[in-house]
Amino acid sequence: MNCIKLGNSTESTHRVAVLDQELCQPKKCGLECIIYCPVNKTGGECIVQRPEDGKAVISEDLCTGCGICVKKCPFDAIVIVNLAKELGEDKIHQYNINSFRLYRLPSPRKGSVVGLLGRNGIGKSTIVNILSGSIKPNFGNYNDNITYDQVLKNFQGTELKMHFEKIANGTMRASIKPQLVYLIPKTFRGTAEELLKKYDERKRAEILVEDLGLKKVLNRNVNELSGGELQRLAVAVAASKDADYYFFDEPSSYNDIYQRLAVAKVIQNLAAEGKSVMVVEHDMTLLDYLSDYIYVLYGEPGAYGIVSSLQGTKIGINNFLEGFSPSENVRFREKAFRFDTTSSIDDIISDITVASYTDITKSFPTFKLKISKGKLRRGEILGIVGANALGKTTFIRMLAGLEKPDSGMIEIGARISLKPQYLSQDYDGDVRSLLYVAYQNEIENSQIEEQILLPMGMKKLYEKNVKNLSGGELQKVAVATSLLRQADIYALDEPSAFLDIEDRISLAKFLQRYIKSQGKSAIVIDHDMQLIDLIADSLVIFTGCPSFEGSAGSSLRKEDGMNQFLKQLSVTYRRDEHTGRPRVNKEGGRLDRMQKESGNYYYIRN
Ligand code: SF4
Repeated sequence: MNCIKLGNSTESTHRVAVLDQELCQPKKCGLECIIYCPVNKTGGECIVQRPEDGKAVISEDLCTGCGICVKKCPFDAIVIVNLAKELGEDKIHQYNINSFRLYRLPSPRKGSVVGLLGRNGIGKSTIVNILSGSIKPNFGNYNDNITYDQVLKNFQGTELKMHFEKIANGTMRASIKPQLVYLIPKTFRGTAEELLKKYDERKRAEILVEDLGLKKVLNRNVNELSGGELQRLAVAVAASKDADYYFFDEPSSYNDIYQRLAVAKVIQNLAAEGKSVMVVEHDMTLLDYLSDYIYVLYGEPGAYGIVSSLQGTKIGINNFLEGFSPSENVRFREKAFRFDTTSSIDDIISDITVASYTDITKSFPTFKLKISKGKLRRGEILGIVGANALGKTTFIRMLAGLEKPDSGMIEIGARISLKPQYLSQDYDGDVRSLLYVAYQNEIENSQIEEQILLPMGMKKLYEKNVKNLSGGELQKVAVATSLLRQADIYALDEPSAFLDIEDRISLAKFLQRYIKSQGKSAIVIDHDMQLIDLIADSLVIFTGCPSFEGSAGSSLRKEDGMNQFLKQLSVTYRRDEHTGRPRVNKEGGRLDRMQKESGNYYYIRN
């Protein structure tokens, strides 16, 4: 079996040395990497300082892969990996010396939805830029100007040859739904309708508007749209272009479960019309539902990414969860992710009530909210599900004392810490100081660091400026900040947003452990059903007419709540027999029909 990381290099490996330019701070450290490198010690120039700013430059030819500099660097700025030598021949692109590199490429397939499954920072943007023709692959020769003749020669005899021929002769038509939809208003001024009209090459705008629920927002300026509306507009624009290759980068963000299913159908329809479609999506239940095939992307985020061979959806997702790629015989994660379906959570929830409320009402000029009485117990994690704009956030803001109900009483015998849905990047300083402010004490080498920050993988972010954090990093910092505050109830509004699949599962498992072991309680609003399935003990379901009126019933046991919620969606779940993860049954398929008839929408109990 090949291992991604080897303790010692061998003749059969090649070196990957990557430096995080932001974390490398030669003015603040004692240049330990240079001092302790054994090659430098014997007179070699394996690590030297860059003349312009003093940052480290590592020679991959001289480096022996000992890993000493990785341990010595106080800011975790260096990654050294020994990869199988053969893989070096599969290098597709490298940006610069000691920077990210991508090995192998996925192939678009005509008439199919191909899902890309992997962590943030593992190369998906590089892939889409290469496959759409925005970046020419350099095969690691970052100093050379590669021609398309060389590119075609490299892909000779592969499925990708034709794809690159089209790029080379300028006939490749690509349509991309970008990841950061909130940037759209910065590049387009006008209404949603005007934007759609501009790109409606296939004359499908009207149908897409209907399918994606965009009718009410057509006359609004794009800078007035909510995140979910912008996301669906971006999907509609991408789907209405006439292209050979379509790429949807995280199409579920900001959307509720109803809207996610609608987006999935639009994407599947493109494939049904014979188009080649690729999707990156971190809502694993959704990716499973909409993909025909999967490529697993593995490696080290920010350092290197490897694309697996093409796999069936179920097998690809299971291999990802297993952390093992059988076709390459590579283990890329030490531990497999498991979904424990035999939880005995009631043992850990105490009878002590930490919050309770009577029937509540709250009215705004154009929106009315009604909530049935309920309570939260110590050790309990309450999941909140439902469409957008039904009052879920207002509910937790009322619990946190930030809004007052018009009628009804809320009794809270505990302190609440709230992580809001929308995250601010306004803080001027590094992550370390932000965490210090939240905890009001030194965090390094503290017990709280051991309990929260290390398991959440925060240490690597301490030196980063909050303004430079990616969406996923900012989300983790926001969750960690809320957990650091002295509180008994943690109310987390959409903690999965911007996190990759691996971080979502890790966060869900960590929160379960932390909340239970510390005798705390939590309320979690999220649209990722896998996260809710993993984390919640009980559920409150919101229903109603979005932006007009919303109501919530009393809390239900998770199994009953999921069953009721899935029934509203007319979707049935089964559990994967190997991993225990929830999977959506094919609509109208044998299991779907059987479960609907028996009323077991959640999954068939054994
Ligand atoms: Fe030097 Fe390479 Fe060892 Fe780092 S891993 S200390 S660069 S030999």
